[in-house]
Amino acid sequence: MVKNIAVIRGDGIGPEIVNETLKVLDKVAELYGHTFNYTDVDMGGCAIDKYGDPLPESELKKCVQSDSVLLGAVGGNKWNDVPGNMRPEKGLLRLRAGMGVYSNNRPAKIWPQLADASPLKKSIVEQGIDFIIVRELIGGIYFGEHKTEGDTATDVLKYNETEIERIGRIGFETAQKRNKKLCSVEKSNVLDSSRLWKKIMHKLAEEYPDVELSDMLVDNCAMQIVKNPAQFDVIVTENMFGDILSDEASMITGSIGMIPSSSLGASSRGLYEPIHGSAPDIAGKDIANPIGTILSAAMMLRFSFDMPNEADAVENAVSAYLDAGYRTADIMSEGMTRVGCKQCGALIIENIRKG
Ligand code: NAD
Repeated sequence: MVKNIAVIRGDGIGPEIVNETLKVLDKVAELYGHTFNYTDVDMGGCAIDKYGDPLPESELKKCVQSDSVLLGAVGGNKWNDVPGNMRPEKGLLRLRAGMGVYSNNRPAKIWPQLADASPLKKSIVEQGIDFIIVRELIGGIYFGEHKTEGDTATDVLKYNETEIERIGRIGFETAQKRNKKLCSVEKSNVLDSSRLWKKIMHKLAEEYPDVELSDMLVDNCAMQIVKNPAQFDVIVTENMFGDILSDEASMITGSIGMIPSSSLGASSRGLYEPIHGSAPDIAGKDIANPIGTILSAAMMLRFSFDMPNEADAVENAVSAYLDAGYRTADIMSEGMTRVGCKQCGALIIENIRKG
């Protein structure tokens, strides 16, 4: 297969972690007979320096015309004083809107080799934690009317059936590619928007008979994520609930450098990036952990390119690397061998096998 990937290295550690990830993709292409073409896209602080704009139209066009986008991270102190609408992060918002991605998908996975890094009790971690939160990204209370009149402030939470249905489909389709269990999270005991959410999810369930749908109230879900996270496969929820629950879920895994994410819309084209930022404090030192970006590329293979075996090969290589006792500084522990960003990438590549 031939796939065209728009590559945004961005700022800070972005170029270092993306370079290692492209080498991983090249290895996958070599083993499985694919061709991955890369188009460089300038976004963030580096684009402000070059064009005076965090994401010029010409750069956005390259992303929209690609099969998917791989992003490192953007931002840094150097651009803190530029006007708000020209800040590096504006490029990110413009990219999400320009690509029409309305679903943010974040896995919460504890690698058994890193179980000690989790703040949860060992007995809970040992049950195995590996689920994805599918969060609606461009609707709900964050996008409703906001106003303050006198001593009263109002934020409107609104969803229509179409908005719920399209995110629901991503939830069901994600579950189909995993263990076929979908938990719909809402607050239907109080909110009309949640009652509509629940109704649409159950209507959709008829189209996905292979997926087992369950319902959970958001307050209970917040508790269950720390009490019994092994019960979850895929969680689908609205924007604000997803924002809060996905941060809670990323904390239980213990390392920000390990977590990938994807954002998807109506087509198979997605935006793939680690959840961390540009880490200016460690940029250029060859100590960043590239695994969050490498696993984002694995998500790209699985969810946008329909290459599950290739995605498994990358994830298995990360696991084998951890098994061998190698650690970047952020996840270093006693008895392990410390490696830098480049060596981490090279060791993961050595472990990629055609399954
Ligand atoms: P950050 O995620 O960049 O860093 C937080 C801490 O985690 C730092 O100590 C950093 O060294 C460490 N860290 C992050 N990623 C790491 C990795 N891969 N390996 C090892 N250690 C890692 O958050 P911040 O410091 O709050 O933000 C720095 C800049 O990044 C800001 O300009 C912010 O706006 C931007 N940012 C960008 C994105 C994005 O591009 N999607 C997301 C968040 C923050």
